[in-house]
Amino acid sequence: MSEIKITVNVDGYLAVNKYSVDEENAHIELVDDPDTAEFLKLVRVCPAGLYKVDEDGTKHFDYSGCLECGTCRIACGDTIIAKWRYPEPTMGVQYRYG
Ligand code: SF4
Repeated sequence: MSEIKITVNVDGYLAVNKYSVDEENAHIELVDDPDTAEFLKLVRVCPAGLYKVDEDGTKHFDYSGCLECGTCRIACGDTIIAKWRYPEPTMGVQYRYG
């Protein structure tokens, strides 16, 4: 059986989207000092790669590139996601298919 290899440049697709970031009103917020194991789940599942951990273990999250997929809410909505809702009207992601 032949092997099919498909390579997709996800960053390239994400780069064509347009984001209107509500700087005053984050639509996703985490609890203070989120549990590391829970946070690492989000590092793995967020399709936009918005959850990151530095080499020194510092956790980072930036909602400004959010795709509004809800994956983090499903994965950790009962643990470290303190707030999740869609952005206000006219804010958030606008998908572009270039
Ligand atoms: S809603 Fe989706 S894209 Fe946005 S932070 Fe959560 S997992 Fe990432």
